[in-house]
Amino acid sequence: MECAVCGGKAVFSAPALCEEHFCEHVELVVRETVERYGLFTRDDRVCVAASGGKDSSVALHVLQALGYRVEALAVDEGIAGYRESTLACLRSLCDERGIPLRVVSFAEEVGAPLDDLVKGRRPCSVCGVFRRSLLNKHAKGCDVLVTGHNLDDESQSVLMNLVKASGGRLRRGYLRSPSAEGFVPRVKPLARLSEREVLAYAFLQGLPSSSGVCPYARSSLRFRVRDVLDEYEAARPGMKRSLADAALRVSAPVASSFSACPVCGGPAAGGVCRACSLREELLGDAP
Ligand code: SF4
Repeated sequence: MECAVCGGKAVFSAPALCEEHFCEHVELVVRETVERYGLFTRDDRVCVAASGGKDSSVALHVLQALGYRVEALAVDEGIAGYRESTLACLRSLCDERGIPLRVVSFAEEVGAPLDDLVKGRRPCSVCGVFRRSLLNKHAKGCDVLVTGHNLDDESQSVLMNLVKASGGRLRRGYLRSPSAEGFVPRVKPLARLSEREVLAYAFLQGLPSSSGVCPYARSSLRFRVRDVLDEYEAARPGMKRSLADAALRVSAPVASSFSACPVCGGPAAGGVCRACSLREELLGDAP
């Protein structure tokens, strides 16, 4: 197959591009997403929620290459046999590129590692509550918090929100979360790139990134939805992009109002925030 730009040997099929033009294409898509949707500017302090996986590693690499002021923030949830190796990849990437890195842990901040918190609950639900809370807390002072969601992740989220009849989430900001007092806005500069594109770019750039899969992932709704969408995409290519495009069309960042949690001072929808109430349920004491 030939590169659609220069006629050289294509390393990627859709779009058909050689290594040089494929990497340029990925960087252009990210730049256009940031600029077209007003995600952030070169003056902003850009915090990337990083894990050592391919998505956040590509986000760090591309945004730094495009001249943005990036720093990495990682959460060590305390998942034995998994998180240690992904964090090792992240440290290696940040050391190589001179990117500031901070790592915060459930053990220190919540009081116990995720492995000890699950207690028969759905691991991703517990993990998600504390992870979101810690990322927001430690990204304070930054202008935006980048997450590495790609197009596949976004199409999964659309279907999950439909399955859960969560129309509100569908309409809330897609590429940029709504503004709210106490929240660092979340932005998704990779959301217009497919998982295959992100994976291929990480490989071609030789980025140290982990391919490990969280041992709890299989129990999540997202994992099942991913399988269904992969099947549909194989039968009808372009379906994932159509789903993500539909979300983009109906989404609008609307302002939300929050009060300060009386326990931790973080943002809450009213009363004690979800992280503090869950911590109380699981560990029986407040921070
Ligand atoms: Fe946390 Fe679930 Fe992701 Fe594992 S798969 S890191 S438990 S959200």
